[in-house]
Amino acid sequence: MVSRSYDDVEGEILRRIRTLAKREIPIFGVLDLHVNFTPVMAEHSNCLFSYQKNPHTDAFESAAASAELLVSSFETGLWPVTYQRHSRHLFAATLTGTADEPMKSVEACARQIEETEEAILVVNIMAGFSYANMPEAGLTYSIVAKEDSDAVVERAFDLLQETLNRVKTKPAEAYDVTVAIDAILKNGRFPGILVEPSDNIGGGTPGDNTEILKALLASSITSSGVILADSEAVDLLKEKEIGSVTNLAIGGKSGELGAESITLDPELVSVSDGRFTLEDPHSHLASMSGLHIEMGPTVVVRHKGHLIMLTTVPTPPFDLAQWRSQGIDPATFQAINVKSAVAYRQAYDKITDEHYYIKTVGPCSDNLDTLPYTKLIRPIWPLDN
Ligand SMILES: [Zn+2]
Repeated sequence: MVSRSYDDVEGEILRRIRTLAKREIPIFGVLDLHVNFTPVMAEHSNCLFSYQKNPHTDAFESAAASAELLVSSFETGLWPVTYQRHSRHLFAATLTGTADEPMKSVEACARQIEETEEAILVVNIMAGFSYANMPEAGLTYSIVAKEDSDAVVERAFDLLQETLNRVKTKPAEAYDVTVAIDAILKNGRFPGILVEPSDNIGGGTPGDNTEILKALLASSITSSGVILADSEAVDLLKEKEIGSVTNLAIGGKSGELGAESITLDPELVSVSDGRFTLEDPHSHLASMSGLHIEMGPTVVVRHKGHLIMLTTVPTPPFDLAQWRSQGIDPATFQAINVKSAVAYRQAYDKITDEHYYIKTVGPCSDNLDTLPYTKLIRPIWPLDN
């Protein structure tokens, strides 16, 4: 986390806990794989265990592994220490999936090191969060080891870095939305997923960019699904009669980069409290929010064959119950706009393998060159050669 007063909130929290606890209390815990892991966090903790999968389907296993390591430290009376090294790489969110390179090979290398080096307990590959304006943003390794393991840890860091340099790759190709829509219609393998990393709700964006919705309405696609966060529109519509038609501006109210409303006369299809239970208890969303999700009051409106779900709270598209709880089968659409980068796949891979990264303007853009970094330590790949 970055706050107005601290670039490294977790580092500051750990430092304060350590100051209170001295060396008498071990500090163990679990981290998201998208943490920007700093030297201060390493110095003031014993063993922080990061998720190894993105989508994060291993939250439970990570917590259990961390607890087991804590138990074994109590049994032996030996507290491990944490070493940290930054890779000098900054990854767009679409490069952080662990089923694909470069994360796949670097993760495999980490597990290999854990198996072969007796002094090393845990190797974390933390892809980082490149949309935070802080010095240490980017991919970091940390190694939890027995005390005085400097030489073996240095060798392990080198091996990880060599692996990353060998397999690193550019983000997947991104398409103009009209090109992707044409391809979906031509291939006829419905639904086609229009993936929008620049408005990746899981990354903290407002979830109200309407560029893809506009393109869908202007295209030959006859049925599509788009979910937008728009509490103002929900408030306006939720007391109206089902079937009524209202002229209103939809989306684009956050004022964030790329935000722009679209004015339509849609028909009100349904109104709900926006609560649903995850279909997949191991989904990415479960790791962060538990099994019961609240989108806040939610309405579904229809414009011709296009269904637009308007939620009060921006809700990441990580589970198909988001649609099904509103009486909608997402598999019946020709196209779906998904505001995510990687984590949507755990849900949407179940209904299609036709997906396209779309170039829109927004705060979580894949094009890191467009972001106004002021604190990042340079040089760093891919911004500098
Ligand atoms: Zn994450």
